[in-house]
Amino acid sequence: NAPERLDRLLSRLGYCTRAEAKRWARDGRVLLHGEPVARAEAKVTPRDVLIDGEPAEAPDGLLALMHKPRGRVCGHDASEGPSVYDLLPERWRARRPGVETIGRLDKDTTGLLLLTDDGDLLHRLASPKKRVEKVYELVVDAPIPRDAVDLFASGSLTLTGEKKPCLPAKLIVSERADHNRTRASLSVTEGKFHQVKRMMRAVGCEVTALHRESFGGMALSRMELREGEVRVLSRETALELI
Ligand code: URA
Repeated sequence: NAPERLDRLLSRLGYCTRAEAKRWARDGRVLLHGEPVARAEAKVTPRDVLIDGEPAEAPDGLLALMHKPRGRVCGHDASEGPSVYDLLPERWRARRPGVETIGRLDKDTTGLLLLTDDGDLLHRLASPKKRVEKVYELVVDAPIPRDAVDLFASGSLTLTGEKKPCLPAKLIVSERADHNRTRASLSVTEGKFHQVKRMMRAVGCEVTALHRESFGGMALSRMELREGEVRVLSRETALELI
């Protein structure tokens, strides 16, 4: 990575504001090749600095996984309720460009959520063209019609208000025993607004519980990530997802 001004680096990564960076420099909190960087205007290479004795955190962009709990929104508007962003460490929230969710989960949905401040990665992972598979586990309030499996797989279902049909999706009905509670999993490769709930509604079923189990190669059941927890993902793993 290219050298950049120390004040810009510190504010970009959320350590402090550009104004505060002067004091950080004066106090010798940043070392470049072991030497204190005394001026906030000095050019440094992000990978070569130590900040308070530690390497700069994710200097080329942050990608994180969250196990989203129920009751939190994937937005910044406080009037919509508590936000997933409040679960991030304060320094991540101060990063610029800001950390954003890759797609959204509804307030009542739980499960795997990805977040990044890397615009390129955001675009690549959110784009339907990349066909990244997302698997949802769901409960609906009625028996699922048998022809729903073929309808979803055919790629011919057009949701109300949409111009293009949904891409082929894989529905696996796992439990038909109780007529008011049918369990299923649905795997989709795009992310239309409320897609899973609308697809199920199109076959006469209301979703009463929704959980995202996996996103690309990342599966919650193979990770020890409790609800509300967040973990940084390595760039290599991120690229495998694309
Ligand atoms: N589809 C939905 O309807 N809701 C979600 O939260 C995710 C996918």
